[in-house]
Amino acid sequence: KERGGGNWARYADGMERPVSAHVRLGGDLRRALDDGEFTLLYQPLVALADRRIVGVEALVRWEHPERGTVPPIDFIPAAERTGLIVPLGRWVLRETCRQAAAWLAEFGPDALDKVSPNVSVRQLHDPDFVADVAAALADTGLPATRLALELTESAVLRGHHVSQVLHEIHAMGVRLALDDFGTGESSLSLLRSFPAAIVKLDKSFVDHIEDDEPGTPEADARQAVARAVVQLAGALGLDTVAEGIENQEQADRLFKLGYTVGQGYHLARPMPADRITELLATRHLGAAA
Ligand code: C2E
Ligand code: MG
Ligand code: MG
Ligand code: MG
Repeated sequence: KERGGGNWARYADGMERPVSAHVRLGGDLRRALDDGEFTLLYQPLVALADRRIVGVEALVRWEHPERGTVPPIDFIPAAERTGLIVPLGRWVLRETCRQAAAWLAEFGPDALDKVSPNVSVRQLHDPDFVADVAAALADTGLPATRLALELTESAVLRGHHVSQVLHEIHAMGVRLALDDFGTGESSLSLLRSFPAAIVKLDKSFVDHIEDDEPGTPEADARQAVARAVVQLAGALGLDTVAEGIENQEQADRLFKLGYTVGQGYHLARPMPADRITELLATRHLGAAA
């Protein structure tokens, strides 16, 4: 509470929970990190042509002793506000690298192209961030090219210092993915100045993209954006991922538009590391999806 100040009220906006619950949540985070209550789920990034797993995104969960599994929406904002996102994000990064290095050691270099943890803007402002990334790679033995950090547009828009940090990360060989692409403010100009390797089309453009009612303005607009993003990315030499694919019609439509990699419940849900290990043993999702 002493650190959050008046921000608690803002966090409570639209969340429909008593402020006191959030105060407790925020206070609990440090203890939870010390007690090892955070875990990672991994969601496959899947080649749409043949259902091969080409990567995994790491998604954090809090296994709370009384509340059960707490999703990130319920604690990441508090972690960002209190600064605890810095040690939490450092743990996420390290654990993701460790797990990826183990998968590559077990299944060989072709098992997985990349692993992607999410990174908050707050972490980019931590003076140790670049050193933390370098140390996570060095200590786990994961090659830099296997790591792709997911950042949102709003995070990378923030000024010269962040730009400097991202160029240093890029120079290490680590890839940068623009998450939730298309929902931010300045998508196009951003692509010129930011050393992105991957663009993740936001789920909001995937939702209902399969609706084929001729002339439905919303479906038309979504398809136009999805098409424009994949063409622009292609012209700039960037890879694309379509997020939040929930049915085969969406996968088919996106594939026709030029998307080769997708992510979503229809392809594979976020799952514990040992389930990914089982899937990697067979190399693709096949009938499992
Ligand atoms: P994101 O990075 O855009 O991650 C994708 C989210 O969409 C995940 O939610 C995933 O479970 C969900 N998702 C995937 N496929 C589908 C689908 O087909 N339908 C629907 N409805 N949802 C789908 P999750 O795990 O609850 O994470 C939510 C957000 O929390 C993430 O969005 C990311 O912004 C943030 N987050 C998660 N883990 C971390 C972390 O370790 N650090 C930071 N800073 N943020 C994280
Ligand atoms: Mg993400
Ligand atoms: Mg995303
Ligand atoms: Mg998202």
